[in-house]
Amino acid sequence: MSKLHHCLNGRPVTEQVVLYQQTRDSRDYLPIQFYYDNYKDHWFAQLDDYMDRMTFESDFDYKLSVAVNMFKFATAAHLQKEKGYGPLGAFNGFFYKILSNWKSNIKTSAFRVKRRPAVQCPVCSRMVGRIDMKHLQHFKTISDLPKFMVWQGDIYEVTSMPRVYVVTWGEKTNAKLEALKKGDVKAFASCKRRIRWPWKLENGTKGVLCPFTKNIVPQIEEEYIKTLPIEHSRYAPPMTHHEFTEKYPRARIQSEVYDLHRPVGKDQKGVLQDHIDRDHRVTGPFESIDYDDIKSGDVPMSFESAFRIIENFIKDETDQEILKLIATGYTVDDVATTLDIDKKEVRSRIKSVRSEELWRLLVDTV
Ligand SMILES: [Zn+2]
Repeated sequence: MSKLHHCLNGRPVTEQVVLYQQTRDSRDYLPIQFYYDNYKDHWFAQLDDYMDRMTFESDFDYKLSVAVNMFKFATAAHLQKEKGYGPLGAFNGFFYKILSNWKSNIKTSAFRVKRRPAVQCPVCSRMVGRIDMKHLQHFKTISDLPKFMVWQGDIYEVTSMPRVYVVTWGEKTNAKLEALKKGDVKAFASCKRRIRWPWKLENGTKGVLCPFTKNIVPQIEEEYIKTLPIEHSRYAPPMTHHEFTEKYPRARIQSEVYDLHRPVGKDQKGVLQDHIDRDHRVTGPFESIDYDDIKSGDVPMSFESAFRIIENFIKDETDQEILKLIATGYTVDDVATTLDIDKKEVRSRIKSVRSEELWRLLVDTV
């Protein structure tokens, strides 16, 4: 085993990475690979519940190659300052961060699949993890708030916390309100505007308009919802556990835990989809992926294989970057701003790399 931060040839790892970036000679890459081969057991020990050794090895090696290609001296200097690494450990620190993110991504996504599948509550017909006393209260949560409300003749989007702007859809008509509630926003897209936050509490600070009472309150949280009259606070009648077991003696209150190898059932998928939709209301699912993360390969697993496909298919580096941004939900405008390229050029580059096979592969992966 080599000395910490040093390859077997005696050169510091960080230096070896920079050397390889200059020569692009695989003989300069191998010492880096050998150095990190020594750490595979350590990382695999933390992940062996989630994947087999083969998958682990190939993913690890891929991560390493991405890190080696992405590593920049400027980043290294920044990391050194921030984390107090010596100059020797710069690349190691950078790669460590990538591995840690990878590990936590794997653990969270595995947890999601391992989660108990839902059971259906016979009272409210919702799919829930477990029908317990808390559930049987049938209290609404933030995600049960209506998406739209009417105030002074206009339609507004509901938020639970004050913000800088509020979205209004203009004058209320029944047809418009019905369409919006159904999610048919396209027909009325031209009415949509952002305006400065209009609601203030008596003390002058911002508050939110309660969609039920039309009172202005500091924020809407579950505790607040519980204080509302029953027709607003609950989405189904409350029931005690005793009443429940009397009325539904055969109901299943929770189900077995699936193991990782069992395919996700249809209901489970529905619940997951609901969850995604709810999250989507608050923040777009792609907002958290920023360009730096994309560059360093620090992205959710679902995008990793898409990125790999892009890297295998596309030669030009700018084209690669553009496609990665598009794959993670950036619009052409966003791409142009992020990469500082003219919009027209972005469009024509996308066109030039459009191959049906590539797109089919991408759609299958993401
Ligand atoms: Zn229920």
